[in-house]
Amino acid sequence: MIETIGILGGGQLGRMLTLEAKRMGYRVVTLEPFPNSPTGQIADEQIVAAYDDPRAIGELGARSDVTTYEFENIPLDSVLLLEREGRLVRPDAAALRITQDRVLEKTFVRECGIGTAPFAPVADARELDVVIGELGFPAVMKTARGGYDGKGQWVVRDAHAAHAALAEARGAQLIFERFVPFDLEVSIICARGADGTSIAFPASENQHDHGVLATSIVPARISPEIAARVRAAAETIGERLGIVGAYCVEFFVAGDEVLVNEIAPRVHNSGHYSLDATQISQYEAHVRAICDLPLVEPYLFSPAVMINILGDGTGDELDGIVELLSDPDAKLHLYGKAHAALRRKMGHVTILGKTVAAALAKAERARAVLSWKARPSALAR
Ligand code: AMP
Repeated sequence: MIETIGILGGGQLGRMLTLEAKRMGYRVVTLEPFPNSPTGQIADEQIVAAYDDPRAIGELGARSDVTTYEFENIPLDSVLLLEREGRLVRPDAAALRITQDRVLEKTFVRECGIGTAPFAPVADARELDVVIGELGFPAVMKTARGGYDGKGQWVVRDAHAAHAALAEARGAQLIFERFVPFDLEVSIICARGADGTSIAFPASENQHDHGVLATSIVPARISPEIAARVRAAAETIGERLGIVGAYCVEFFVAGDEVLVNEIAPRVHNSGHYSLDATQISQYEAHVRAICDLPLVEPYLFSPAVMINILGDGTGDELDGIVELLSDPDAKLHLYGKAHAALRRKMGHVTILGKTVAAALAKAERARAVLSWKARPSALAR
């Protein structure tokens, strides 16, 4: 029987996962190098250690009945170590290995018969010249591993810029992708049980700012045919990866083409809306999947728009909360982070509306009333 869930990673995704797991009666242990992390503030225990500390990883495994992770950039070796010690890890190391590496990931997606942007791996200047000849410009160059939120990415329009990006990457393995002139970006959260049962949340339409998710609109403004293709592709991917747990697949929609951009073998920022707008959240779905509880199909109470609250480096105190919460349709989530560094994810707001347009209008007002200011104590110093 599963009583304790171990979470590798201590950020906001782990925090919301923990809140839902605790509500459902589970104990939670998290492993995260920074003390008092967003997850650690809620969990029963936080092991303060590096993600690659074998003793601490062993400790996490020993204290947990199932271990999961809240972001995919944890060392694969840590998950392999847990598996070697006979611990249950969900999703498993095989799924993590592929989704940690953009080249393996896109190759895998193609093998599933699903489209991606044309791409090629690039390791050095000679390879880059060959790939430029084959794929052309404009293009996006990304580090194959370790990038997130637009970090380790360069939009390049000519050979000079491409070589500059290669130099900046300092020998890291890169992927070179054709730039997709998409109409919109959508993502879908699915969850899959060990028995192969699969459920999917309504797809969300995502708008990014500097590579960071800014707004998610639910349901995505796509035709039922495109929505069905997105779901079918995501379910094929989950099945072929053998994922047990919640996962997210991001797509570009260009005309009637749907192209996979990324797979996250975990709960995802674009699924935050499910805490407020569907009868089960992505976090509950993940807990259910990894704890062998029934998976039920989510349904939407109403259209919703989620906006991320990002730091801007001007102060650590969020202003405008009183005004925001005067709106009966606004749900505020803050992650317990002390410093609102530039573009750091500090919280989010989900706005419900009778229509997507109504929710969007309110979300824009919500964005306008929130701002950062210096804490009074910081001013006095
Ligand atoms: P990623 O880290 O791959 O999710 O990329 C972050 C964001 O950059 C995406 O959500 C897109 O907005 C943009 N982007 C990434 N790859 C491409 C591409 N091949 N074509 C056009 N835009 C891209």
